[in-house]
Amino acid sequence: MAMISTYLNPSSQLSGPKSCTAASPPLFSGLRRSSASLSTTQSFFHSVNSHTLRSSSSSNRTSRGIVAMAGSGKFFVGGNWKCNGTKDSIKQLVSDLNSATLEPDVDVVVGPPFVYIDQVKNSLTDRIEIAAQNSWIGKGGAFTGEISAEQLKDIGCKWVILGHSERRHVIGEDDQFIGKKAAYALGQDLGVIACIGELLEEREAGKTFDVCFKQLKAYADAVPSWDNIVIAYEPVWAIGTGKVASPEQAQEVHVAVRDWLAKNVSPEVASKTRIIYGGSVNAGNSADLAKKEDIDGFLVGGASLKGADFATIINSVTAKKVAA
Ligand code: PEP
Repeated sequence: MAMISTYLNPSSQLSGPKSCTAASPPLFSGLRRSSASLSTTQSFFHSVNSHTLRSSSSSNRTSRGIVAMAGSGKFFVGGNWKCNGTKDSIKQLVSDLNSATLEPDVDVVVGPPFVYIDQVKNSLTDRIEIAAQNSWIGKGGAFTGEISAEQLKDIGCKWVILGHSERRHVIGEDDQFIGKKAAYALGQDLGVIACIGELLEEREAGKTFDVCFKQLKAYADAVPSWDNIVIAYEPVWAIGTGKVASPEQAQEVHVAVRDWLAKNVSPEVASKTRIIYGGSVNAGNSADLAKKEDIDGFLVGGASLKGADFATIINSVTAKKVAA
C-alpha cells in the first residue's frame, strides 16, 4: 500500500488545518451518539473546535463503549462498482455479499451499473441498499442516454452518487450542474452521496481546502436540506491509484469539511452529516482510517467488487471502538 507524501500548505488554505491529535475521544452510547447526551452547544463546539471539545469531553466519559466519531451519524459504507461486471460476476458478488456477516451498526450501500440495478435489487439482501452512479438533472423526457431520479426511485434505488471525480474530470460536469442534480435527486427522495475532492496538482499547490469548499458551496447553494446527504471526500489522486491518503491526511480534510458545514450551514448539520473517505480503501487499510474521529465511513471502488474485502471494510467500524 503506497501512502502519498504530499502535504497541505496551511498558509494557502481558507482555514488552517486542525490538529489531528484527539486528546480524548468523545462520549458515545453505542455507535450512534445519543442525541440526548449532547446539547446543541456541545455539538457546535464539537464541530467547530474539535480539539477543544474532544479535550473537554473527557469529563463526560463513562465506562460504556467509547467510539472515535466526531459526528453523530451512523457509520456508512458505499461500494461504487463503476462500469464493471457482467450478469455472472454480479450474481457471484451478490451471493458473496448475501452470505457475509456484517456489523449491524453500519449503513451499507452498493452502486451497480444502471443495467444491473434490477438484477441486484431482485437478488441482494435488504440489509444493503442500492445507489445509482448518476442521475439526470431534472425530470425525464427527451434526454438520450440519461436516467432520471424518478426512474431510479421506481426501480428501488435509495441513493445516488453525484459529483464523482470521474463525472467531474472525465465527463466534464461542473460544480453548479452537480449541485442542481443533487437538489433534484433529493427532491425525489433519493439520498445523495455527494463527492468532493482535489486533484494532485491542486493539493500540491496548497489548494485542497479551496477546492473542497468551492465544491461544497455549490451543493449548499442548491440543496434545500442536508438531511439525506452523505459527503464523500475523495482526493482524486487516491482514486483507483493504490495511493491511499494517510489517516492523518484524510482526517485533516474531514475536520475542515465539518468545520465548513458548521460555519456555512449549521452546527447541527455539521454534527449529523456523515463525511466518508474514498480513494484506494481496501481490506488492509480501512481499520486505520476508520479510527479517525471525523471519518464516518467509506466510499469504495475497486475493493467493493470483492465481497469478502468489502465486508471487511464494512466491519472496520469495530476499529472505531476504543478502550473506555
Ligand atoms: C471511487 O471510485 O469512488 C473510489 C474510491 O475508487 P477506488 O476505491 O478504487 O479508489
